[in-house]
Amino acid sequence: MNWVSAACIATLASALSAGFARAECPKPDGVPIDVDIAAGPVETVFDTSLKELERLARAAGRDAHLPLRAVYSSNVLFGANIKVEGGAQPPCAVARSIDVRIVISHRTIRVARELKDKACLLAAATTHAAGHARHEEETLLAARDEIASNLREQLRQVTTAETEMEAERRLARTVSAQINADLARLDADGNAAAKTIDSIDALARLKTACPDEQADLVNERT
Ligand SMILES: [Zn+2]
Repeated sequence: MNWVSAACIATLASALSAGFARAECPKPDGVPIDVDIAAGPVETVFDTSLKELERLARAAGRDAHLPLRAVYSSNVLFGANIKVEGGAQPPCAVARSIDVRIVISHRTIRVARELKDKACLLAAATTHAAGHARHEEETLLAARDEIASNLREQLRQVTTAETEMEAERRLARTVSAQINADLARLDADGNAAAKTIDSIDALARLKTACPDEQADLVNERT
């Protein structure tokens, strides 16, 4: 076999199919895209201390939030189910549907152990932390249509592939990059918007809440 000419034929074949693909493969912009957002339950745990929370707040530059008695944390995860169909002539694999699922998971309000028997302070601190949890959920739910439309826009840029595997790889890469970018932006926006929850008034109320129990805490520490 003459390898050189075989390589030439292969190149010619792929050039022809690329020509066909450009001409006849449908673009993925008509693909149904579904974005589903779910939020798990919020769990309250007493696995930290006032000292540790103070350290966390200072490390995050949130000194204005001191004394921090409870803190909310979560993980936002996402996955995509991409259905691709291919094998037609000319060779081109096309997306049939893209289902994205974004989940807020591991939602936890971590409360200082010292608050276990301080009903009033405990309620004030957990109610405030729950406000942050609710805010995160609302922000993400409100962004659902925007996330879907950003994704639709990005998928227009994806070039068609000849194989299902390659098409799926390209789509997955685009979906992943776009969702990551949207989540990073929402996180930054959310931090800015959370300032309404952490308004000067709200933080002042937290600071002076339940004076009797605060006095008890000071006595217990000394
Ligand atoms: Zn706060």
